[in-house]
Amino acid sequence: MNKWGIIATWKMAVDGVAIGADILKNKGKCQDAVEKAIMEVENDPLYTSVGYGGLPNENCEVELDAAFMDGKTLSMGAVAGIKDYKNPVSIARKLSEDRFNIFLVGDGAEAYAHKNGFIRQNMLTERAKKTWETRMDEITQKNLSPYDGHDTVCMISLDSEKDMAVATSTSGLFMKKRGRVGDSPIPGSGFYVDNEVGGAAATGLGEDIMKGCLSYETVQRMRNGVSPMKAAQSAVEDFSEQLRKRRGVAGAISIVAMNNKGEWGIGTNVEFSFVVSTDEKELKSYLATPIFNEDKTIKEIKIEEM
Ligand code: ASP
Repeated sequence: MNKWGIIATWKMAVDGVAIGADILKNKGKCQDAVEKAIMEVENDPLYTSVGYGGLPNENCEVELDAAFMDGKTLSMGAVAGIKDYKNPVSIARKLSEDRFNIFLVGDGAEAYAHKNGFIRQNMLTERAKKTWETRMDEITQKNLSPYDGHDTVCMISLDSEKDMAVATSTSGLFMKKRGRVGDSPIPGSGFYVDNEVGGAAATGLGEDIMKGCLSYETVQRMRNGVSPMKAAQSAVEDFSEQLRKRRGVAGAISIVAMNNKGEWGIGTNVEFSFVVSTDEKELKSYLATPIFNEDKTIKEIKIEEM
């Protein structure tokens, strides 16, 4: 049984997880660990799918989504389509303290952030703008899909008082329509945590993840006694199968999960990197690769240290 732990989606989370692990190691709280860890990723302009430097929508505006949930009280807060604020995850956390109006979008979220003293910042970098211009040309000249280029940072943590928290932050799909919201700020779809069981969070094609409420589904499987690894992988596989059967295609879906004993797991239907640190095992990045059967079902997931 781990005393504390933190798991995050994608290798880009590695510096953030180091900060979160440090907080947890020093008996800090899980809420601070996930917030500070995600802020680190949001602040890095090199990560093109989260926070500052995140890729813009089809109108070349950076619209961000973020969420925060506390596993002890089940308090949650979220923002969607927010522009020009430095740390959406912190705004989401602040909203989780409220009784009403805990999920705000667009200019309502911006007005709340302004009123509560959050830092305003133009989130569009020169680099992201150039990528947008190149993609615009590619879309018109080569008829390419506009939506490649996304990845949400999600973190789940357990602290030494056995409290748990989860948070997410993303710029969503590159070239998304103005006002498009994915799974990341939607409770149950992009994230969920309950101290009595554990937490889960998702990354991938939000439009498909939302159809299966996959974070809640993963937590429910853990509630029924299934390990985080089995819960996350079976949730992804079962739902991908449903999507293929009923709609002909399943988008990319990856899930991280951790239970209240600090055991962790992942589920994925694509190649997927993630980062974990616990009191028993130092911080490591991993790569998960699904191996497919001929009928496109998943035979096994290979997990290697990166
Ligand atoms: N799930 C995010 C969204 O659909 C994107 C991602 O995680 O890749 O907005």
